[in-house]
Amino acid sequence: MPKPFQRRMKRVYKRTAKGVKLTFKKKKESPPKCASCGKVLHGVKRNKVVNRMFGGNLCASCARRELIRRIRAKVSTKPKE
Ligand SMILES: [Zn+2]
Repeated sequence: MPKPFQRRMKRVYKRTAKGVKLTFKKKKESPPKCASCGKVLHGVKRNKVVNRMFGGNLCASCARRELIRRIRAKVSTKPKE
């Protein structure tokens, strides 16, 4: 039997004529969030692939910052001829 914190279903106490009955309800899935700042990602559904770089992982502003950071790092470490 799973431990209480591992349950996939949410415990719900329902009132009936005989008393209180314990039933289980599916937990609502949280929407995908940005890995950096935690903002909710708009326009991204579950189990859907996003083609853009960092799509479905980072929000627009974080993706932009990350791309600029990477490009700058790449340019600075480039060996000079
Ligand atoms: Zn973000």
